[in-house]
Amino acid sequence: MDQSGVAAQALKSPWGSVAPAAPACSLADVMSEQLAKQLEEENSDFPALTDPGADLLLTEESSDTNSDLMLAQMLQNQFDREFDNQLRREEKKFNGDSKVSISFENYRMVHPYEDSDSSEDEVDWQDTRDDPYKKDKPQTTPRKGFTGKGKNITTKHDAVTCGRKNTARMDNFAPEVHVGDGLGMDLKLSNQVFNSLKQHCYSEQRRSARLHEKKEHSTAEQAVDPRTRLLMFKMVNAGLLENINGCISTGKESVVFHADGGSMGEEEQPVPDEVVLKVFKTTLNEFKNRDRYIKDDYRFIDRFSKLNPRKIIRLWAEKEMHNLTRMKKAEIPCPEVVVLKKHILVMSFIGKDHIPAPKLKDAMLSSEDMKNAYYQVLHMMQQLYQECNLVHADLSEYNILWHEGKAWLIDVSQSIEPTHPHALEFLFRDCRNVSTFFQKRGVTEAMSVYDLFNSVTGLNIPVGEEEEGEFMAEIVALEKRNEDHVQRRGKKYFPVASEDGGPPLKPDADD
Ligand code: ADP
Ligand code: MG
Repeated sequence: MDQSGVAAQALKSPWGSVAPAAPACSLADVMSEQLAKQLEEENSDFPALTDPGADLLLTEESSDTNSDLMLAQMLQNQFDREFDNQLRREEKKFNGDSKVSISFENYRMVHPYEDSDSSEDEVDWQDTRDDPYKKDKPQTTPRKGFTGKGKNITTKHDAVTCGRKNTARMDNFAPEVHVGDGLGMDLKLSNQVFNSLKQHCYSEQRRSARLHEKKEHSTAEQAVDPRTRLLMFKMVNAGLLENINGCISTGKESVVFHADGGSMGEEEQPVPDEVVLKVFKTTLNEFKNRDRYIKDDYRFIDRFSKLNPRKIIRLWAEKEMHNLTRMKKAEIPCPEVVVLKKHILVMSFIGKDHIPAPKLKDAMLSSEDMKNAYYQVLHMMQQLYQECNLVHADLSEYNILWHEGKAWLIDVSQSIEPTHPHALEFLFRDCRNVSTFFQKRGVTEAMSVYDLFNSVTGLNIPVGEEEEGEFMAEIVALEKRNEDHVQRRGKKYFPVASEDGGPPLKPDADD
């Protein structure tokens, strides 16, 4: 070709130089001659080029242009398959072992119908040869896509074959769609019908999955998913409970039910007349925020990391049970544990005749009672810290009930030991809630948050002029020293109640 002529022409282009036009040549020419020969030999009884893999055929009449089209389609097909394979690999890598996977299906280049390798619902038409309808059964696509000497060519795109195949596949992937006695009737579904049916089935499946999920979720939202319901029924069946009456409270992390107690065990140990079931929610979202309460609690440290979320929720229930038991020992007014079954904690009911005791926030107390309540709460906080070796960590007027002239402490699933790296910060928050509440309710005796903190812990952190910042800094420094100490010596340092239940240990002077 005259390259200089082309170059001269190209210079005239307003967009600068233009690449010389490629000389027109057939794609067939580009193909290796050797491969072409080889293919020819393989299919010596068939005059034209064929690629069984791509199932694309060339007829004798095929002109050069047609061949190019075929070749281009084959190459495109091959390219698309490679693209899809790569996509599948990426999908696999992206999803890993995750239970929730993202499908890249929509990005596929090869139509699922074309892609017989990857189609899960593929039915081999040949497989049905032995059924009773065999005689009437039409001829299947021959292995190499043709019969005879190049005349009777049947591809898998043949409308009749395709229609039959579609009918058979239908049965496989959408049993809910009745295609009648498809094989016997020789029913043929056109690609168009097949595809829209398939699309419809898939969207139906997705819709029903969504509905199902929603239902499960909504019940879990109220903590009573099917598993929980079963557990509750079992308790009634076993006679532990007489009745489950109704819901007292639906919180973020738990749902509390009122129930009539029955009896327990071989010896028919009586259960309190009225009990509550605290069902820890099986939806996990809320609990994520609470990790920090349990993660660093040394009592649970070995177990926490190895558990799945469902088990972690049981751990919360277990934690509440242990904490309540400790409190009961110290004679702090609190619910008595009856039994723990997985994530359901059964405990005594604070209230009477199905009416739960009001929260301190809602109780209508005289100023005398309010003052009493304050001293009771102060005493409870000291006992909790010094005798039970616990910090409530969610103490406020919401988690104290007022019943029979007494303050009762509830909701201790998140309570932690003072050795927890953030225990003192949580305690400070508790103190602030308590002192703010009583001060607002007109209890003049109510201590400031700093004095309350010192009085609960037995520490003597100085209260300066410029208050909270310094006080907090001191608390954080103490926590840090405590943690370092625990790490260095592998034992508790400060500030915890001494082993014999005496006053809290003070930091060593040399530390
Ligand atoms: P949550 O973690 O959801 O706040 P709580 O233990 O505080 O769970 O319980 C929620 C509500 O259920 C409480 O505010 C209280 O009204 C009621 N409740 C919980 N335990 C008892 C009980 N033992 N007796 C009576 N009412 C209770
Ligand atoms: Mg609560």
